[in-house]
Amino acid sequence: MSEFLEQDITYIKGIGPLRAEVLKEDLGLATVYDLLINYPFRYIDKSVVTAIKDVATDFPVQLKGVLLSKKLIKASRTNILTATLKDGSGFIELSWFKGIKYIEKYLEIGKEYMVYGKANSYRGKLTIAHPEMESAGSNELKNYFEPVYSGTERLNKLNFDSKARRKVIKIILSRLSDSNLPETLPTYLIKKLRLCSRLQSVLWIHFPPDALKLEEARRRIKFEEVFYFQLKMLFNKSQRSLKYKGHRFEKVGTYLNKFYSEKLPFELTNAQKRVIKEIRADLGSAMQMNRLLQGDVGSGKTMVGLMCMLIAKDNDYQSVLMAPTEILAQQHFNSITESLKGLGVRAAFLSGSVKGKTRKEILHHLKLGTIDILIGTHAVLENPVEFKNLGLAIIDEQHRFGVMQRSRLWNKSKENRPPHILVMTATPIPRTLAMTIYGDLDVSIIDELPPGRKKIHTIHKTERHRAQIIEFLHREIEKGRQIYIVYPLIEESEKLDLADLQQGYERLLNHFPPPKFKISIVHGRMKPHDKDQEMQRFAEGTTHIMVATTVIEVGVNVPNASVMVIENTERFGLSQLHQLRGRVGRGAEQSYCILMSSYKLSKEARTRINTMVESNDGFKIAEVDLKLRGPGDIEGTRQSGIKEFKLFNVVSDQNILHTSRQLALRILEEDPGLQGDGNQVLLSRLMYLNPGKKDWGRIS
Ligand code: ADP
Ligand code: MG
Repeated sequence: MSEFLEQDITYIKGIGPLRAEVLKEDLGLATVYDLLINYPFRYIDKSVVTAIKDVATDFPVQLKGVLLSKKLIKASRTNILTATLKDGSGFIELSWFKGIKYIEKYLEIGKEYMVYGKANSYRGKLTIAHPEMESAGSNELKNYFEPVYSGTERLNKLNFDSKARRKVIKIILSRLSDSNLPETLPTYLIKKLRLCSRLQSVLWIHFPPDALKLEEARRRIKFEEVFYFQLKMLFNKSQRSLKYKGHRFEKVGTYLNKFYSEKLPFELTNAQKRVIKEIRADLGSAMQMNRLLQGDVGSGKTMVGLMCMLIAKDNDYQSVLMAPTEILAQQHFNSITESLKGLGVRAAFLSGSVKGKTRKEILHHLKLGTIDILIGTHAVLENPVEFKNLGLAIIDEQHRFGVMQRSRLWNKSKENRPPHILVMTATPIPRTLAMTIYGDLDVSIIDELPPGRKKIHTIHKTERHRAQIIEFLHREIEKGRQIYIVYPLIEESEKLDLADLQQGYERLLNHFPPPKFKISIVHGRMKPHDKDQEMQRFAEGTTHIMVATTVIEVGVNVPNASVMVIENTERFGLSQLHQLRGRVGRGAEQSYCILMSSYKLSKEARTRINTMVESNDGFKIAEVDLKLRGPGDIEGTRQSGIKEFKLFNVVSDQNILHTSRQLALRILEEDPGLQGDGNQVLLSRLMYLNPGKKDWGRIS
C-alpha cells in the first residue's frame, strides 16, 4: 500500500480534524484508501434534463430553468424560503427550510439554473424541497453521472454532504497514479477478460463519464473482489494439502461389504451412491478430505456418514460423529448401534453428561483403539479425549465447522495428519453461495429423496380457523398420531415469547384435557436434563402433543409425529420453517404442516409462507431465502467475509463468480505456489489480504 493511500484523511484539503473524526466514527473511514473504496451508492444522471411538465413525485430529476421569483415566508417556528422556476413547459416551486440566509443570497431572479432534486406533492402542488442548485452556465459542459455518497446526520451538520465529499474525492483522484495505486491483477487476466486497469476503475466508479464506463468499472471491481476471495481460499487449501498429508483409506473390506450386503435395510438412492463414490475417492487419495455434504432434510445423510465410518474401520482407523445436541447424538447412537448389530464394530456414546466410571472406561478404550466409532456432542472435542488413530470426523447438522473446532481436531491427530472431515449441513444452501463461502471445501450434494416419501401437505391458516384446526388435531390423535406445536423464540423478546408459549399451552389443555391427553412442553429456559426427559417422553409416544419453542429444530426423529403446527409463522425465517417441517413426514403416514399466522402480513412474510405452501424442495427454498434476505443474513455467512464485498452480489453476479472461480482454480493448478513471473502480483496481493499469516496451511 502506497504512502498516499495510507495517509490519514485529516490532512486532505476540505476535511480537517472535525470532519475526519466523524467520518471515522460514523462510517469507519480513516485513510485515503478507505475513502476511495467507499463507493457511491447511486449517481445522478446529469446528462438528462427533464421538462417541468413531466416532473413526477419521488423520482430524482434534473431541471433547467429561469428563476422567476423568490419569497421568504415567516412562520412561527421556522421560516420558509420558496422560489418559482420556469422552463418552456411550465412552472414548479422550490422550497428551503434550512440554511435560508445563505441560499437567499445565492438565488438571482432572472438567472438560469440547473436544479436537482426529488419533487413531492404538498397541498396539491408539486414542490422540490432543498434542491441542489447550480448556475446553468457552469454546467453546460458537464455530461456525467454525479456520485452520491452515503452520509450521516452529523456529517451534514459539518457541511460535509455529497457535494463536499465529491470535491474531496476529486482532489484525491487527481493525485492518483499507477504508482500510488498499482495494478492488482496480472496483465494476462486483464487482457483475457478485457478489464480496465485498477486506476481506471477507481476513477470511473467515482466519476463515470457515461453508463458504459460505469459498467466497466463495476465489472472490474466486482471481479477483483470475488476473484481474490476465491484465490485466497483455494490457495490456503492447496498450501494445507501440501503440508498435511491425509490418511489413505484404500481398502474396501469386510465391514463395509458385509454391512452393504447383509445389513442395509433399503436400497441406496442414486444420489447417495454417487456421493459415497465421491467421498471414497477423497479418502483413498493421499490428501486430507475437507468435504461438505449437502442434502435436504430426510435425504439420508446419516447413512452416508455411517458407511464412511465403516470404510475407516476397514482401514483400521477410528471415527467420530458429532451432533449439535445431546438428543440428536443419542438418537444417532441408538440407530447406529442398531444398524451395526452382529457386525463386530464397537461404538460408544460420549457427552458432557457421561461421567464417572463409564466416562473413564470410554476414554481408556478410545486410547487403546478398542472403540471404533465415537458418537457424541461437540463436547467430545473439548474433553481430554485421546484416540489411538482417529481417521475420520463427521460433523452433523452444522453450517460451518468453525476454525477453532477444526484446530482442536488437528490436535487430536498425530504427525501433522489431521483426520478426514465430513461436514453435513443442517439446511441446504444454494450452490453459488456454497461455492462462495465454502470455497475451501469440496461439496457433495444429495439431490434426491428416498423413494416412497409422501409429500408433506402444507397449508396456511389464520386465527379464525382455529376451531377447525383443533378438530383436525383431535382426529389425528385418534388415529394414533402425534403432533408438534411450535412457537417462535427470538432472544430480544424472550419473555413475551415464553408468555405466548404458556398461554398456548393452557389453551391447549382446555381442548385436550388430561388425563386422556398428555402434552409435553419444552423451552429454552428449562434445565437440559428436564428438556431431554420431555423430548424422550414424546419420542417414546408417551405424550400426544409436544408444545415447544424452536429447540426441536435440529434433527430429532419421531416417525409417528405427523402434524407440525407452527404458530406466528410470519416470525420465522424460511430455512427455519423448512427445517421445522422436516420433523414430520418421517413415517409411512400422510403428514401435514399447518402454518398459522395473523391475517395481515407483510409482503415478505407472504412470500415466505407461499413458498412453503408451494414447495417441499429445500434447495429451491434456500434460493428464495437468499433472494429475500441477501447473503449477509444466511446462517453460516457471518464469518465468511462475504460482507466485505462492496459491489459483488451473490444473487445477481453468478457469472462473475463462476468465471473467477474457474480462473483461480486453473491458475493454482498450473502454478500452485504463485511463483511464475506473471503471478507475482497475485502472491503479493494475497499476502496483503492475509496480514500476519505465516502459517498458510493451518487455518482456513
Ligand atoms: P437427514 O439427511 O435429514 O439427516 P436421515 O439420515 O435422518 O436424513 O434419514 C432420514 C430417514 O430416511 C431415516 O429414517 C433413514 O433410515 C431413511 N433412509 C435413508 N436412506 C434411505 C434410502 N435410501 N431408502 C429408504 N430410506 C432411507
Ligand atoms: Mg440428519
